[in-house]
Amino acid sequence: MSWEWTAASLALLSTSALSLAIAIALYRRREIRGVSNLAALMLAIAYYTLIAAFEAAAVPLHRKILFSKLEYVGSGSVTVLFVLFAARFAGRTAWRTRPRVAALWLLLLFVPLAATNEFHRWIWTGFSPGAPGSNAIVYHHGPAFFAFIAAICAYLFAGSVLLIEAAIRSSAVQRRQSIACLLAAAVPWISAVLYTVGVTPAPGLNLIPLSFSVAGIVLAVGIVPLRLFELVPVARERLLESMSDGILVLDSQRRLVDLNPSARAMFRLPRSAIGTDAARLLAAWPSILEHLDPKREVRLELSLYQKPLYHADLRITPLRTTLEASPGHLIVVRDITRRHLAETALRAANEHLQAQLREIERLQEELREQAIRDALTGLFNRRHLDDMLPRILARAERDGAPVSVALVDIDHFKQANDTYGHRAGDALLAELGGLLSRQARPGDIACRYGGEEFVLVFPGMPLETAVERMDGLRRTFRAADLRALGIERPPTLSAGIAVFPEHGASQDELLRAADAALYQAKASGRDCVRVAGEPAA
Ligand code: GH3
Ligand code: MG
Ligand code: MG
Repeated sequence: MSWEWTAASLALLSTSALSLAIAIALYRRREIRGVSNLAALMLAIAYYTLIAAFEAAAVPLHRKILFSKLEYVGSGSVTVLFVLFAARFAGRTAWRTRPRVAALWLLLLFVPLAATNEFHRWIWTGFSPGAPGSNAIVYHHGPAFFAFIAAICAYLFAGSVLLIEAAIRSSAVQRRQSIACLLAAAVPWISAVLYTVGVTPAPGLNLIPLSFSVAGIVLAVGIVPLRLFELVPVARERLLESMSDGILVLDSQRRLVDLNPSARAMFRLPRSAIGTDAARLLAAWPSILEHLDPKREVRLELSLYQKPLYHADLRITPLRTTLEASPGHLIVVRDITRRHLAETALRAANEHLQAQLREIERLQEELREQAIRDALTGLFNRRHLDDMLPRILARAERDGAPVSVALVDIDHFKQANDTYGHRAGDALLAELGGLLSRQARPGDIACRYGGEEFVLVFPGMPLETAVERMDGLRRTFRAADLRALGIERPPTLSAGIAVFPEHGASQDELLRAADAALYQAKASGRDCVRVAGEPAA
C-alpha cells in the first residue's frame, strides 16, 4: 500500500482545493490592486497544502521525504508572498523596490539545501517511525532547519507588524477589515506556538500549511468583498499617483514623508527623496519653506523654472495630528504656466494699449494747441482770439468790468527785413512773441493777429493801466539787445488801445477803434502808444 488517506491528509487536501478556488476567484478580480498579490499567496498556499496532503498520505519513507522536500518550495514562497501582500496592504508600496523583493526571495535557497539533504544532513539528520498505527514519521531536524524556522519567524513578524499597522489605520473606518488583519496576523503565530510545544489536533497533521491557508482565507473573506479595500486606499493611492497636481507631505521636522510622481517630476527629486530634509530638497525654492505657516493655509505663486518657464500655484496647508506641537504640511502644486503666460501677454497688451492711448491723447492735445497757436511766435492765433474775445466781453458785460484791447505793430518792419534779412525778421517776431507772452497775466490773451501785428486782450484792466503797460512794453522792446539775432538796432513798436465798453461793445468795434488808434500812433511819428478816440497829437 503506497497511499493512506487519513483525516489529516484529507483535511489538507480540501484546504488546498478551497485555497485554489479562492485564488481563482481573487484572480478574476485582479484589477483591484493588491488582489493579484493575495491571489498569488492563495495559489502558493494551495500548492503547499496539496504537497503537505501528499506527504501525509504517502506511506513509503522515500516518498514522504520527497514530498517534504517539495514542501520547502511551498513554505518558502508562502512566507515571502505573505510579507509582500502585507506590505502592499499596509500601503508600503515605496518600500517594495526590486532589490528588496529579490532579497526576500532568497528564502528559497533552503529548497536546494533540502533537495541535497542526503549529502550533508543539515535539514534532517534522520527519520524514525511515528506513533504506532499512524502513518506519520518523526523528522529529526538539523541546524539548517532551525535557521529556516528562524527566517520564517522573522518574515512572519514583519508581515504581522504590517498587517497590524494596516488594521490600526483602518480601524476607525472599517471594523471587519481590522479584525481580519489581526486574525490573519495571529493565526501563523498560534500554529508556530502549537508546533513548538508539539500539539497536533490529528496525527500527522502539519499545522503550518494549514495556518497559512486559514490566514489567507481570513484575509480573502475579510478584506476583498469589502469595497473599502477596493475603493478607499487603492482609489486614494491611484488618485495621488495619477494626479497632475504635485503633492508633497512634510512632517513637523520638515522632512519629506510622501510625494506623488507629479511632484517628483516638478521638483526633479530622486526616488530616495523620502525622509530627506525639505530644506535640502527644495533649496532652489527657499520661498516655499518660508511660507510654511503653522496656523493657516497659504497660497503662493512661483516660477519653478525660467527656461522653459514653469509657473506654479502652491497651496500649503498645515497638517496637525493631535499629538504634535508643530504641524506637518501638505503642499499641492499646480502648473499654471499657460494661465500665467496668457495673463502676462494680456497685461503687456494692455500696457501697450494704454501707452498708445496716452500717445493719442498727447497728439490730440498737440493738435489742439497747434490749431490755436502761431507756430513762429508761440502766441495764440487769430482763430483763438475770435473764439475767446466774444466770451471775455460777454463776461465783462455781466460783471461790469473793463476789457482793454491793444493792437501792436512793428514800425518799418519791411525795412528791418530788408536790412537784416527775412530770417532775422522771423527771429525778431519770435523775440517779440516771447516778450508778449512773458508779460501777459493769467487770463490775458496775447495773439499774433497777422504779419507783424499783435493783439493783446487784458480782461478787467482799466484803460490807464493798459496804457502804462503798453508804454512799458514799447520801451522794453526798444531797449532790447538783439545783436545775437544779427539786429544792430531793433525797430520800435507802435500801439493803439481801445477799452470795453467805452470804445466799443463788440470785438469788431473794439478792434476797429484800436486800429484807428494805432493809425494815429503811426501818423504821429511811430514809437508811441495812442488811445482810441483821442485827438491826433
Ligand atoms: P509801418 O511802420 O507802416 O508798419 O511799416 P511796415 O514796413 O512795418 O509795414 P508794411 O505793412 O508795409 O510791411 C509789413 C512787412 O512785414 C511786410 C512783410 O514783408 C513783413 N512781414 C509780414 N509777415 C512776416 C513774417 O512772417 N516774417 C517776416 N520776416 N516778415 C514779415
Ligand atoms: Mg509795421
Ligand atoms: Mg503792419
